[in-house]
Amino acid sequence: MRGSIKLFTVLGIPVDINATWLIAVAIITWSLSTAAYPSFFGSWSTMQYWTAGLLTTLLLFASVLAHELGHSIVALAQGLKVNGITLLLFGGVSKIQGKASRPRNEFLIAFAGPAVSLVIGVVLVGWWIKFGPIYEDDVKLYHGVLFFTGWMNLLVAGFNLLPGYPMDGGRVLRSAVWGFTGDTKRATRVAYIVGKFVFYALIGWGAWQILSGDIAGGIWIAMIGYFLMTSARSEIAGEQAKQLEESDLESIDHLGFSVGVATRSMPPMIESSWSIEQMTHQGLPEDPLTSMPVGRQGELIGFVLRRDLDQVPIEHKGQISVGELMNPDSLRVISTNESFRDALRSMDRNRLNQLVVMDADYVVGIITREDIVRALLEFKTQGMHAEPMDRDTSAD
Ligand SMILES: [Zn+2]
Repeated sequence: MRGSIKLFTVLGIPVDINATWLIAVAIITWSLSTAAYPSFFGSWSTMQYWTAGLLTTLLLFASVLAHELGHSIVALAQGLKVNGITLLLFGGVSKIQGKASRPRNEFLIAFAGPAVSLVIGVVLVGWWIKFGPIYEDDVKLYHGVLFFTGWMNLLVAGFNLLPGYPMDGGRVLRSAVWGFTGDTKRATRVAYIVGKFVFYALIGWGAWQILSGDIAGGIWIAMIGYFLMTSARSEIAGEQAKQLEESDLESIDHLGFSVGVATRSMPPMIESSWSIEQMTHQGLPEDPLTSMPVGRQGELIGFVLRRDLDQVPIEHKGQISVGELMNPDSLRVISTNESFRDALRSMDRNRLNQLVVMDADYVVGIITREDIVRALLEFKTQGMHAEPMDRDTSAD
């Protein structure tokens, strides 16, 4: 993800932190140290408030990581791949590759995160209730820190279980609708619609808080609602792209769509002798699946994906060259008049994300998986507007 710094690897899963987290650390520490702690524990010094605030924020960070590991471990146990965990401003994202095969599996992945937060929260708050000091003067710094960490974990669990897709609660809802109806598309749609109400409610609640005087709290809530709504939208677009089915491809083959339609010109080549570090300095494309052509003395020899570069540990980036990283089998060609289906099959067979498009003996450009998906989606939406009566009702 852009603006992310790699921290460490847990269970083979790289963990990065998004730059927005630094803002979150500042805001959370500040509000804990100047408002929350002083109002609960009146007898501490300013130094103690700030120490407790910062410690709690760091423990919250560890808790969010534990929450994400909950999702990731369950996904790994189901044989899915986890490409990484990114800690963002409002929690984290586990990049799970592939989809749960059954509603129950999706439910377990989605619920595992909040379950971890819930357990941490219940243990810490339970400890406070059972063993915490009775008199305010006996409250030590660590009492406060553990109590607040517990509370925040309960908040994280509760918040993530709000039924707004793509939050965990929305995924739980989606898996339930999927389980009952057996229809993944309907499940996504229901989760999305319910989610929209949740997000509007959050934004509305934020606005109400602002009007009634709590400006900082209100802005915070409205921002979360807005952030979630935009991420839901991009999630749904990705979902639709993945749901292109064999039947879509077949009907498009009938229409005579060929590779030539979605071909685009060859991006500028990267010299194979460059180090990964040198390449990174040139600026990298945002999408991890961008295919970048690699050349040796002006001749195309293969492709690397942006994602492959990210997987090289930072300490090796100076030594490994693009040519060494490149899959030597990544140069495969297809002719302009072959079908989308042939192109996708060839990509699947060779585990590639792109093919070089040839017209007779000439290279005319490249075609990627995304290019095909985009062309099909465009066709689908245009098709819908053009002939609304003929639309297959199940295809939505
Ligand atoms: Zn989660």
